[in-house]
Amino acid sequence: MNERVNLLLVDDREDGLLALEVVLRSPRYNLLKASSGADALRKLLDHDVAVILLDVQMPGMDGFETASLIKTHERLKGVPIIFVTGIHGDPRLVNQGYEVGAIDYVCKPFEPYILQSKVSVLVDLHVKNAQEARRKVEAEYAAREQEALRASEKRFRDLSEELAAANAELRQFAWVASHDLKEPLRVVASYVTLLSRCYEGKLSPEADEYLGYVKEGVLRMNSLLEGLLSLTGISQEEVRSRPVELNRVFESVTQSLEVLIRENQAEVTRDELPLVKADPAQIGQVLQNLIANAIKFKRRDEPPRVHVGAIRRDGEWVLNVRDNGIGIKPQYTDRIFGVFQRLHSLDEYPGAGVGLAICKKIVDKHGGRIWVDSEPGAGSTFFFQLPHQESA
Ligand code: ADP
Repeated sequence: MNERVNLLLVDDREDGLLALEVVLRSPRYNLLKASSGADALRKLLDHDVAVILLDVQMPGMDGFETASLIKTHERLKGVPIIFVTGIHGDPRLVNQGYEVGAIDYVCKPFEPYILQSKVSVLVDLHVKNAQEARRKVEAEYAAREQEALRASEKRFRDLSEELAAANAELRQFAWVASHDLKEPLRVVASYVTLLSRCYEGKLSPEADEYLGYVKEGVLRMNSLLEGLLSLTGISQEEVRSRPVELNRVFESVTQSLEVLIRENQAEVTRDELPLVKADPAQIGQVLQNLIANAIKFKRRDEPPRVHVGAIRRDGEWVLNVRDNGIGIKPQYTDRIFGVFQRLHSLDEYPGAGVGLAICKKIVDKHGGRIWVDSEPGAGSTFFFQLPHQESA
């Protein structure tokens, strides 16, 4: 520790202070001077002092009174005091001094070397104590920090485990619910089909209308359950990444969508697409959902034109599916990636509202990002980016 320590020299006489100053001058010490007991107390309150050299004979408050006051103060009472007296070895004075807490005595005229060594021993002790106290505080602080860190790590682990368990339970619940609900729905669907086959046109027009509603409801419920099942299925599925030729994925997706493309007189084109590292089935699902939407959400005045492109940005491929459809208002561009979020009635555009949620789930699981740029009435471009890709 290279900090200077403070010594407080107290004497009412200039020559007394000077004598102490000359003997104790050292780069280790910072010498504070006080010319009375009151002045000494003030200096002690303002500074951290290692040793006090206190003259006994002072007018007003003498050295003993000053020492008694110092000893009543909680922070100051441990500071060692060396009394400086002119009266050689008077046992009464010596005793009085020890009673009020003196550590030592020197008599004037003092031997410089003796005073220096007495002060030096006390200063060493002070420095050691201060270091010890600091170490203790630091150790206590570090221990408390460690404890707090351990506690918060444990809390974080517990919460993550709880969250993972709750998530798994919820996924399991959604899967079981949608799976099990399909069975009674199948029964309803079969009997409605039977009913309409046997009785359609034979009952009243209202009965036919009601049967129609039941059939629609069954179809809708079925499509919702299918959507939920594929979403929970995707959530549970592992990502098995390998190099995938996106050109080939595009061909197989457009083949699967052949009927939709033909019925809508859609034109679906592509750039030269890259080779990427991904789960082929899952990435095919993303492309299929995006292309199907691009065709489905077409404008009335124009047949759908869909283009799949690829741009290399910061060493990564960003794929995009652009259409000339109805577009999406800016306030909905985040919401549409949520489950069952749809912006239109079923009469206008059919669908379960899980297609984009599935795309997002897949892209998230690949560690990528999906987003949309759109202008209502002019079309939309859906982008998705996949990390760690290999160029074609
Ligand atoms: P679904 O197509 O079954 O409704 P999605 O999750 O695929 O469900 O899409 C959610 C909603 O986002 C759609 O209902 C539609 O409002 C909007 N949307 C998706 N793709 C497009 C698109 N290409 N153009 C305009 N709107 C779209």
